[in-house]
Amino acid sequence: MERQKEFVLRTLEERDIRFVRLWFTDVLGTLKSVSVAPAELESAFEEGIGFDGSAIEGFARVYESDMVAMPDPTTFQVFPFEGRGIGESARMFCDILTPEGAPSWADPRHVLRRSLSKAADRGFTFYVHPEIEFFLFKDIFPETGAKPEPVDDGGYFDHTTHSVARDFRRQAILALERVGISVEFSHHEVAPGQQEIDLRYADALTTADNIMTFRHVVKEIAMTSDVTASFMPKPYNTQPGSGMHSHLSLFEGEDNAFHDPGDEQRLSKTAKAFIAGLLRHAPEFTAITNQWVNSYKRLYSSAQPGQISEAPSYVSWGKANRSALVRVPVYGKPNSARVEIRSLDSATNPYLAYAVLLGAGLKGIEEGYELPPGTEDDVSALTGAERRAAGYQPLPANLEEALDKMESSELVAEVLGEHVFDYFLKNKRQEWEDYRTQVTAFERKRYINL
Ligand code: GLU
Ligand code: MG
Ligand code: MG
Repeated sequence: MERQKEFVLRTLEERDIRFVRLWFTDVLGTLKSVSVAPAELESAFEEGIGFDGSAIEGFARVYESDMVAMPDPTTFQVFPFEGRGIGESARMFCDILTPEGAPSWADPRHVLRRSLSKAADRGFTFYVHPEIEFFLFKDIFPETGAKPEPVDDGGYFDHTTHSVARDFRRQAILALERVGISVEFSHHEVAPGQQEIDLRYADALTTADNIMTFRHVVKEIAMTSDVTASFMPKPYNTQPGSGMHSHLSLFEGEDNAFHDPGDEQRLSKTAKAFIAGLLRHAPEFTAITNQWVNSYKRLYSSAQPGQISEAPSYVSWGKANRSALVRVPVYGKPNSARVEIRSLDSATNPYLAYAVLLGAGLKGIEEGYELPPGTEDDVSALTGAERRAAGYQPLPANLEEALDKMESSELVAEVLGEHVFDYFLKNKRQEWEDYRTQVTAFERKRYINL
């Protein structure tokens, strides 16, 4: 730690960096930033930077509003493409502390750290890599709610000779690599204007930090190309939404704990119990992995006839099955054993999402949950009766149902801690209420002539 702090201070001086942004994330996953002068940093490392927590979503009640942002020097990164000729800037993620110096219960990073240390007690490190989907639009109209125009009419894996999207992906990837984020794959996704960029795996805390950085960098690069990047889960009625499939694995030291060469499916008992934990608790944690009213339009689109979508609406698992909630990709090297969860969308708070996924998987391991048989059926294409007969549970159909399930979950309460659990439910109940009481264009069109 001390050496890292020295490295930060030295780098700032050597590269003549004038702005250091201190980043943290509120409970809903919005990035917050305060800029400090390098001269202040030595004391920031000692005492942190004080701020008014009551003004941040989910952080504090008004009568206990003082909070401290403590920069984490291991996350220091120079941002070479900012500043346009007036010097570089740098950023560090912060942990949020109370004025007494204890970790804040409201800090999503702390929620994830707690989950990770529970895994560490059992000898596990948790690795994640996300496939991040998003749209590029020509213009957006947040005030009117009008339909946005995509930048291209490409489709899955389309290679367009010279398009905004291809230049954009190249620039975004170069920018990401310059801030220390490795990209594995990128391609055009199914819908017009839709892109996907997949990050290399890292421990879950680093990955969550990387996702926050990714969203910022992608939006900035889009702005410089005069387009807008959107992580909204489902912008169009009849086009697929943007998922953030996440590949999860547990390591014990150097070894992947999900791999078992002796098993028919090459899956260890640990992996099977982990998947069983994800499946059993999925309805309870969906409010976290899919936190917006709009998230459920994506999840449920595949249950609608005639829609192209590969988002899961039911709880099932399989190997090649893209309608399943959990998929086990075929893998080569033992250390690549992993499970892919497909419900997450690109607008989740990654810290909270990875904390609940890990919590559910560990619960499966602790309690020795039995893994139900996998399926290669397209679960969405079955009739309701067939699904009931086969025992496939639906995921919550909307935000309200998801909140009801979450509210009754001991597991989610324990993973989030009382403060985040209560705040989240209250905030999201209000979001549902705001939505529920809207009279929509759909209703006017359909009912005005009654
Ligand atoms: N866009 C799809 C979703 O909403 C996923 C497509 C894919 O399989 O990559 O989850
Ligand atoms: Mg995809
Ligand atoms: Mg995938």
